[in-house]
Amino acid sequence: MTTPVAHVLIPPRIADTPPALGGVVHRFGGLTMGTRWQVGVVGSRNAPLERWRAAVERVLAEVIDEMSTWDPASALRRFNDAPPGSLHGIPAGFAEVLTAALAMREASGGAFDPCAGALVDAWGFGPFASFRDPAFAPPDPQALPPLSAAAAAGLAFDPDTRTLRQPGGLRLDLSAIAKGYAVDRVGRCLRQAGIDAALTEIGGELSGYGVKPDGQPWWVALESPDDGWATPHRIALHGLAVATSGDYRRCFIDPVTGNRRSHTIDPRTGAPVAHPLASVTVLHESCMAADGWATALMVLGPQHGMALACEQSLAALFVVRRPDGGFDEHLSPALVPFTQ
Ligand code: AMP
Ligand code: MG
Repeated sequence: MTTPVAHVLIPPRIADTPPALGGVVHRFGGLTMGTRWQVGVVGSRNAPLERWRAAVERVLAEVIDEMSTWDPASALRRFNDAPPGSLHGIPAGFAEVLTAALAMREASGGAFDPCAGALVDAWGFGPFASFRDPAFAPPDPQALPPLSAAAAAGLAFDPDTRTLRQPGGLRLDLSAIAKGYAVDRVGRCLRQAGIDAALTEIGGELSGYGVKPDGQPWWVALESPDDGWATPHRIALHGLAVATSGDYRRCFIDPVTGNRRSHTIDPRTGAPVAHPLASVTVLHESCMAADGWATALMVLGPQHGMALACEQSLAALFVVRRPDGGFDEHLSPALVPFTQ
């Protein structure tokens, strides 16, 4: 048997601080946002792990309080459930993520849209009817109006005063970008706690900084859409984040059409994406950007997604399903330097 050769993605810039002497890697984690979180930190043997854990848990709870679509008490849910014409002062984190999401909507021509919540709900991927419920009936795509530009434009947001106006029935969904934002926030919190090297993961979105006691950066394996890569990818997360969007985790097979219906919705058609792209992975300094862009490229599909990745200089890996069940991989130009 031959061992597959690993694709090793090394950041072009390996930097600065040498590993702290006597440090060890500690790991702790838990559940958040419907998935697992895990943190690896370099610290002394008697590092204050419980204090660090509590600080991380506070950050995660804050992001949920601000942006969860699932918690009816979150600021986002209170906005979604509010009557037409109501004005809402929103917290700083929510405003930061919404601003980034609206910029991505603009750059992606509406493929990425934080106003797509009602469509996400209709397809069973929101907090209400679930695609996992045996009684769930997927909607008829013809009967579902695509998210109109006018409806989305009805969202009036003033970033200076952080005021948001509910035009009526508009449901925000920041799930495509908030996990990455939470990873960044946890990283900042760990730095503030004086930790020189840490790896943060929330449900497959990761970010790492610093080096481990052996001088190595944080190496992680890329998620694969199948049981495993023919050629596994490993990345050194050194001041770098990675996020993957795929059609293979949260999805169902439409009983009427036999089509795969994944949780990535194309707001321009009102239906889950219908192209052979299985996953997109984006590397970026900001995990929020990696997360949001991975979703945007996943909506756009192999050709248009690659065009946007080129235009935005995004380091992206596209994994495309072949009719024979295999996968083809395409690297954007900005990813190529990581492989050389
Ligand atoms: P991700 O796994 O980061 O690609 O995020 C997927 C989630 O983003 C879905 O479960 C929806 O809540 C949300 N979503 C789906 N389609 C879109 C879209 N076109 N624009 C923004 N968010 C979306
Ligand atoms: Mg995303």
